[in-house]
Amino acid sequence: MNQTLAIANQKGGVGKTTTCVNLAASLVSNGRRVLLVDMDPQGNATVGSGVDKDTLEASNYELLMGEASARSVRCREVRGGFDLLPANGDLTAAEVGLMAAGEGREKRLQTAIATCRDDYDHILIDCPPSLNLLTLNAFVAADHVLIPIQCEYYALEGLSALLNTIHRIQQTVNPALEIEGLVRTMFDGRNNLSNQVGAQLLAHFPGQVYRTQIPRNVRLAEAPSHGLPVLQYDRSSRGAVAYLALAAELLRRQRAAGADAGGLR
Ligand code: ADP
Ligand code: MG
Repeated sequence: MNQTLAIANQKGGVGKTTTCVNLAASLVSNGRRVLLVDMDPQGNATVGSGVDKDTLEASNYELLMGEASARSVRCREVRGGFDLLPANGDLTAAEVGLMAAGEGREKRLQTAIATCRDDYDHILIDCPPSLNLLTLNAFVAADHVLIPIQCEYYALEGLSALLNTIHRIQQTVNPALEIEGLVRTMFDGRNNLSNQVGAQLLAHFPGQVYRTQIPRNVRLAEAPSHGLPVLQYDRSSRGAVAYLALAAELLRRQRAAGADAGGLR
């Protein structure tokens, strides 16, 4: 069973890109075939995968504009072992182009990746920090949404807007969309606030919060400047171990959901 997972939160700096790149590499190390789709014009997932965003022959701009196919745009086997549909600042123009496109504009990504969906077990989509047409395209293409939550004071602010958006999508363009779960990022167990926010999430979203907590770890912050997932940068770091655990938990939940639809969720 393959899965298309949008990694989304309209807040910036909560660990979306870090989760996307490192979950992708960790799934690959579990023998899974993975495609990472960079839907943020900042191109952080592209750079963090070791690909130069400034010298791309084609990117997700051409993909969304219907000027190139997913197979021609994708970079095969980047350093984390996954394939990448890369992005750079051109994607901002794609968003403007989509606004003018009219009917079907929210389905461009879904249509584009359908052609290579069977090449992968997991397609991970890194969303931009806003609920715009690029994020909407991700929510239409996806069957699950993973929400990274930074365990700090304003963590829950904006979460209801995100959940409302997902709800609206479920009622209209993509009834199959499900929330895969919430992941606590940049967790610091010595910090009371981190613990309080973590506990609050568990109370509000029973069964939906991943048990794995991603710790604040400097190796996770350093790895992108080397164009590497943390697994390739420092395999024994706490960050690498945590993302391997997150991948294992995701695979367990997927197996459980397959065996007993609705069981664990
Ligand atoms: P987003 O994609 O949501 O904007 P990022 O994944 O880019 O967030 O993370 C924001 C910043 O925090 C980046 O500089 C990243 O390297 C750093 N970062 C993310 N997760 C962690 C972590 N667990 N520990 C330390 N630094 C982190
Ligand atoms: Mg990002």
